[in-house]
Amino acid sequence: MILPGATIGVLGGGQLGRMFVTAARSMGYKTVVLDPDTNSPAGLIADTHICSGFEDENGLKQMAALCAAVTTEFENVPAASLRKLAESVIVAPSAESVEIAQHRGREKSYAQQAGLQTTAYANIVLADDIAAAIEITGFPSILKLSCLGYDGKGQAIVNSEQDVLAKFKEFGSLECVLEKMLDLKQEVSVILGRNAAGEVSVFPVAENVHVNGILHTSTVPANASGFITEKAQKQAMALAESMNYVGVLAVEFFITQDNKLIFNEMAPRPHNSSHYTLDATVTSQFEQQVRTLCGLTPGDGRLISPVVMVNLLGDLWPVDWAKVFAEKGLKLHLYGKEEARAGRKMGHYNVLSESVAQAKKIAEKVFNNIR
Ligand code: ADP
Ligand code: MG
Repeated sequence: MILPGATIGVLGGGQLGRMFVTAARSMGYKTVVLDPDTNSPAGLIADTHICSGFEDENGLKQMAALCAAVTTEFENVPAASLRKLAESVIVAPSAESVEIAQHRGREKSYAQQAGLQTTAYANIVLADDIAAAIEITGFPSILKLSCLGYDGKGQAIVNSEQDVLAKFKEFGSLECVLEKMLDLKQEVSVILGRNAAGEVSVFPVAENVHVNGILHTSTVPANASGFITEKAQKQAMALAESMNYVGVLAVEFFITQDNKLIFNEMAPRPHNSSHYTLDATVTSQFEQQVRTLCGLTPGDGRLISPVVMVNLLGDLWPVDWAKVFAEKGLKLHLYGKEEARAGRKMGHYNVLSESVAQAKKIAEKVFNNIR
């Protein structure tokens, strides 16, 4: 067990790293952030900011010398860097787990092996693979870059073989997956924490609404049957178990019109859709990240209040904060980013209320007031 007073580190200095640092500090740990950006949100508040690239040998060496354990805040962290660090310090999640989550085809086949259902899909490595892929998925389908896509980027809906070829070329002829497009009723996500001893704590299921491919709101409890939410939690746990996963794992699911639960993707880190845990559960996902990294028992994920989380993108800037703080049950979280660009995640708020309906009403009212 790594206990308060020790130093723990995170690769990546974005908002997820910042909230990890905040949790770690309040639990009594010293913190190190490695990120090339001199103004990174997490670097600004860490005890030590190592300003280097993620593959920089000196930076990694310095981090290994300072830290008892290291985690990551982003999924595209180079696996080789995690391996290098793991030679001398505790690293969670492992390079192997992160490598699975980095590739859409790999994570889907892994999920299938763990007993989860995915949409029909096929990997496209070369243009020659396209015809066979279409045989599997049919149309309409979605072409997605296998690696590095996020917030709906590197994706296109396709309706013909020519479409697929054109988009594949547009994406630089890089490896892609083709997925059958599903008729979605809802999107939900589950997050869990698992430590090296295999102790697991799962959070409640969040119901997610996206706008222009970017998460807009997460609502908890989700408006879905107990049968389906329990199934989602069990499947996320089965997946974590099958990977011998250590750390915080987020799993996104689709619920189809005919109530099937379909695995979409996973993230080997805390997730935007679980920011509600900062205010509405006994333990936050970032405390869970610290706990699982340090070999502590995962904290209680129990929901204390119905909650709606709303993302604040740069499009909204400048914001009249007085209107936001006028709501007594609203908790604002800003990430310390100087420049508000369109589509950039600048912060979020959680509205806690006696019912989901009431929380939604307040969350929407505030959002409409500031946009
Ligand atoms: P990202 O990494 O950008 O989050 P996702 O694979 O989660 O990529 O896709 C983004 C969004 O696109 C999903 O949240 C969902 O709304 C929609 N989407 C993705 N795949 C499918 C699919 N097979 N069928 C229907 N909608 C999909
Ligand atoms: Mg997604």
